[in-house]
Amino acid sequence: MAYDPNNIFARILRGEIPCKKVFESEHALAFHDINPQAPVHVLVIPKGAYVSMDDFSAKADPAEIVGFVRAVGDVARLIGVDANGYRILANHGSDAHQEVPHLHIHIFGGRHLGPMLAAH
Ligand code: 5GP
Repeated sequence: MAYDPNNIFARILRGEIPCKKVFESEHALAFHDINPQAPVHVLVIPKGAYVSMDDFSAKADPAEIVGFVRAVGDVARLIGVDANGYRILANHGSDAHQEVPHLHIHIFGGRHLGPMLAAH
């Protein structure tokens, strides 16, 4: 899938729409999810134009990968979920119900999170 430069997270990165920012570095931005699924629900996105983890893992340069992965851990410690635990999740494609086509890592925490996947 080609990257859509008008996706909502690209617009947040350009400052065209607001977000509740929690962290910013050279390679990453983190902000609260607009529709939280847990008491703590923060999204971490790379600043580069990558559709998903599939795209990022194939194309990002080493500095972007290190910067982004470090940012995920830094954000988790910053928002205080490292002590009791947290879950990270990244959706890719239709089976995973990816809604926004810019890579984002969800960080969930603040309560016992239950089973890893909902039963069907
Ligand atoms: P996905 O299903 O793509 O993994 O998750 C997309 C996430 O982005 C959802 O949890 C949704 O609530 C969040 N989201 C969608 N639009 C916005 C927005 O404009 N601002 C913020 N902060 N989160 C958004």
